[in-house]
This record gives sequence, structure tokens and C-alpha cells, in this order.
Amino acid sequence: MEKPCGTLFIVAAPSGAGKSTLVNALLEGDPAISLSVSHTTRAPRPGEQYGRHYYFLERAEFEREIAEGVFLEHAEVHGNLYGTSRRTVQELLAQGHDVLLEIDWQGAQQIRASKPDCVSVFILPPSRVELERRLRGRGSDAPEVIERRLHNSRGEIAHAHEFDFIIVNDRFDDALEDLRAIVHAVRQRSALQWKRHESLIAELLAAE
Ligand code: GDP
Ligand code: ADP
Ligand code: 5GP
Repeated sequence: MEKPCGTLFIVAAPSGAGKSTLVNALLEGDPAISLSVSHTTRAPRPGEQYGRHYYFLERAEFEREIAEGVFLEHAEVHGNLYGTSRRTVQELLAQGHDVLLEIDWQGAQQIRASKPDCVSVFILPPSRVELERRLRGRGSDAPEVIERRLHNSRGEIAHAHEFDFIIVNDRFDDALEDLRAIVHAVRQRSALQWKRHESLIAELLAAE
């Protein structure tokens, strides 16, 4: 039986909405999904590790990799370049793993164009005040970086309607349950189930 390809999930949000926290919690409880580690020209935050949080690289090197076609998608976000490795994603999907991309709306548009079967989720904060509180409370960015991210949040949120699903991350546990429900529902899509249960369907359809 042919092994069905994995599903490509995209999760996007304005900075500080809780995207990484939700994604990490989802992945902890679901070993069948692999996170695609992005490349970025952003400087590492305290505690961020090369290859675990991002592949950190210089802009010149990033631009060379763009020219070489290394990226499935790439975009400039908050003044830094970010990109998803084409090879990593293709290999994981071909092995039947689900793959999750934590990327911005520009990257999501590019992925939808090349992989229309992808499933995209947008995370909204419950209010502007709470978004700002979370961004400042995280304590990972300089004040001017926080200002820039808050300013850019409107531009990101204006694209939320392009996504298949929108989750409001008010109570964390509720939002996590919503995200898990989406992943579980997507796994029962008929195109996948038809391949997965080929022999069952053949038996059920067999002539008397
Ligand atoms: P965060 O807002 O706290 O997640 O801050 P980051 O600096 O980790 O990410 C900055 C922005 O870049 C976010 O909007 C991410 O979704 C986006 N981003 C991260 N990786 C990628 C990527 O590989 N491709 C694209 N297009 N965007 C990315
Ligand atoms: P993003 O990846 O979207 O930039 P993070 O996952 O880093 O956001 O979350 C930003 C901050 O908000 C973190 O300090 C995180 O612990 C906190 N946070 C996330 N979700 C919630 C929630 N539902 N309620 C309160 N705080 C939250
Ligand atoms: P941060 O710098 O806070 O880690 O990420 C800032 C933004 O960059 C987030 O919105 C995040 O989703 C986005 N981002 C991270 N990696 C990628 C990527 O590989 N591609 C794109 N397009 N955006 C990314």
C-alpha cells in the first residue's frame, strides 16, 4: 500500500500572541508532527540554540541560499530575513510525517501557492492590551524591537482571513485544545483516509 504523504500545517500570528508556546505544547503531546526549524538573519535571543530554535546566519549567506533555491518560502519580517528549508520539508512529508511551519503571512501565501493541500491556522490575541502585555512580559526583545512588532501586528492580523482556521488564544488550555482538534480533524480527511485504509475499502467494496 502506498504510504500517504504527511500534511503541511502552517501556524502564524502577530508576535507575542502565543504561537510558539502553543506549537511547543502541541508537539510535546504529538510525536507524529515535526517542526520545521527556520533559517533567519535575526540575532539569537538569550537561550536560543542554533538548529533547535533557528539556523542563524548572516544576511549575505541567506541571500546566497535564496539564489540557490534552498528555500521553499522566504520573507522579510520585522527587518530580518526568515526562510523554510525546501529539502527538510520535502523529506519529512515524503516519509509520511506531518510538518508544522511557524511562519508569517507572506510565507503562508507562498506555501499555499506551491502546496494547496496545506492547512493554515492563525492565532489571535484576545486584545491589543494583552498582546502588548505578553510581548513585554516575555522579556526577550529590546523595547524598540517590541514597538516595531506591535506596530507590525496590524499588518499581520489583516491577513488572518486568508487562513483556514482562526484561534483566539485567550485561555491557553482552550486554545491548545482547539489547535489539537484541528490537527485531529485534518488527519481524517478523505483523501488521506482513502489511501490509509485501501485494503479495508477494497474489502468493503468487494463483490458478494
Ligand atoms: P515570534 O514572533 O516571537 O515568533 O518571533 P520570531 O523572531 O521567532 O519570528 C518572527 C517572524 O518571522 C514571525 O512572524 C514568524 O512567523 C516569521 N518566521 C519565522 N520563521 C519563518 C520562516 O521560515 N519563513 C517565514 N516566511 N517567516 C518566518
Ligand atoms: P509568539 O511565538 O506568538 O511570538 P510566544 O509563544 O512567545 O508568542 O508567547 C508570548 C508570551 O505570552 C510568552 O511569554 C507566553 O508564555 C505568553 N502566553 C502565551 N499564551 C498565553 C495565554 N493564553 N495566556 C497568557 N500568556 C500567554
Ligand atoms: P521571531 O523573530 O519572534 O522568532 O519571529 C518573528 C516572526 O517571524 C514570526 O511571526 C514568525 O512566525 C516569523 N517566522 C519565523 N520563521 C519564519 C520562516 O521561516 N518564514 C517566514 N516567512 N516567517 C518566519
